[in-house]
Amino acid sequence: MRFSGWRVLREGLRGNKGWQPHWRDAEPKAEYDAIIIGGGGHGLSTAYYLAKEHGLTNIAVLEKGYLGGGNVGRNTTIVRANYFLDGNSQFYSHSLKLWENLEQELNYNVMLSQRGQLMLCHSDGQRDAYARRGNSIVGQGDDAELLDVEGVRKIAPFLDFENTRFPIYGGLMQRRAGTARHDAVAWGYARGASQRGVDLIQQCEVTGIDVENGVVRGVQTTRGPIRAKKVGIVTAGRSSQVAAMAGLRLPIESHVLQAFVTEGLKPVIDSVISFGMGHFYISQSDKGGLVFGGDLDYYASYAARGNLPAKEHVMEAGMTLMPMIGKAKVLRSWGGIMDMTPDGSPIIDKSPIEGLFLNCGWCYGGFKAVPGSGNSFAHLMATGNHHKPAEKFRLDRFRTGRGLMDEEGTGSQHNLH
Ligand SMILES: Cc1cc2nc3c(=O)[nH]c(=O)nc-3n(C[C@H](O)[C@H](O)[C@H](O)COP(=O)(O)OP(=O)(O)OC[C@H]3O[C@@H](n4cnc5c(N)ncnc54)[C@H](O)[C@@H]3O)c2cc1C
Repeated sequence: MRFSGWRVLREGLRGNKGWQPHWRDAEPKAEYDAIIIGGGGHGLSTAYYLAKEHGLTNIAVLEKGYLGGGNVGRNTTIVRANYFLDGNSQFYSHSLKLWENLEQELNYNVMLSQRGQLMLCHSDGQRDAYARRGNSIVGQGDDAELLDVEGVRKIAPFLDFENTRFPIYGGLMQRRAGTARHDAVAWGYARGASQRGVDLIQQCEVTGIDVENGVVRGVQTTRGPIRAKKVGIVTAGRSSQVAAMAGLRLPIESHVLQAFVTEGLKPVIDSVISFGMGHFYISQSDKGGLVFGGDLDYYASYAARGNLPAKEHVMEAGMTLMPMIGKAKVLRSWGGIMDMTPDGSPIIDKSPIEGLFLNCGWCYGGFKAVPGSGNSFAHLMATGNHHKPAEKFRLDRFRTGRGLMDEEGTGSQHNLH
């Protein structure tokens, strides 16, 4: 079934009786050519591209809960391609290009809104660093614009420009950045994969990975054993636990990241805004809520809820940047489990076990990576070769020290990225 304006009209006139489920709720088979563990954004997009671009259709996505119930449905939905370092910049550029055609590709409204992202700077040094970063982004084909104070004021007049401690010096704007509807991305990829024959199996937790003589043979699940020639671990915050089932120790720590949304307000914030002197970022959802977040909770945890000191820290940053936010009432907050690497950049690679592949370490930034990650990971799983845009995301950089991509320059401490 294809979605179109005509279809909406027809269903409206017929009492909406003709809509069908977006995907088949499949039963597990005894054997697949490939299994993807994890039905989040990255797992579903991997399955979609495996089927669409590599013709592999005897595949299953195994999800312990429900599709899209993990971080893909818990994030603040920022999409951008303004990374500085070689490796990251090509990859996120590739991903943003896929975003820009995603609705046509999936025939699904993912509500991509390229409203721009503005990163604020608060010192001469930071402005210089942004100029350098902007040049690098433009140099590799994406857009970036260095704004002075007046340029920022036009976009966001409500900011506290004269803050004694953190006055605003300007900002780096990427106009093609923005937001998308997170659930819709998961549903769109799920629908596209299911239409191409992929089995999407919910309530199916992987409890073991079968390995014989260094080769993966399949998985143990709460719905029985399933054999497979290839297995991809795409379980975000649970990656180190799932990899441990195959005897692997990943360089990943899991941490909670919280987000917040206020009551619905009239349109006030047009773009995504990031505070340069504290970790705080904000946008306004299509329903009117101000959606914002900040730093991790700073201790490793698997709890999908956060603590009060981190909430206070985020609120203080918000008040410093835009005191008007103090008038809005926070409606709810939530947490998600982040798979943090020591350099803050992800891993898309083969594991030391033949047939077992790793896609993890997305830290704060995995939502914007969903299309690119699935596209590149599917290429790796299908062909055995690294996909050019993601070729630098190697696991062994943490052993050799070569090829580390520390965007923040914060060193090898997971919770600082
Ligand atoms: C509060 C918050 C804000 C964020 N904001 C942004 C943002 O603005 N922009 C951005 O780019 N990124 C953002 N992120 C990061 C982004 O959401 C994640 O990096 C990304 O969603 C992770 O990939 P995923 O979608 O595949 O993860 P998930 O949706 O978590 O998918 C992993 C799936 O694996 C399943 N699983 C785990 N263990 C097993 C098992 N044993 N068997 C079967 N299934 C299993 C889980 O149930 C889960 O559904 C944010 C994250 C949070 C929490």
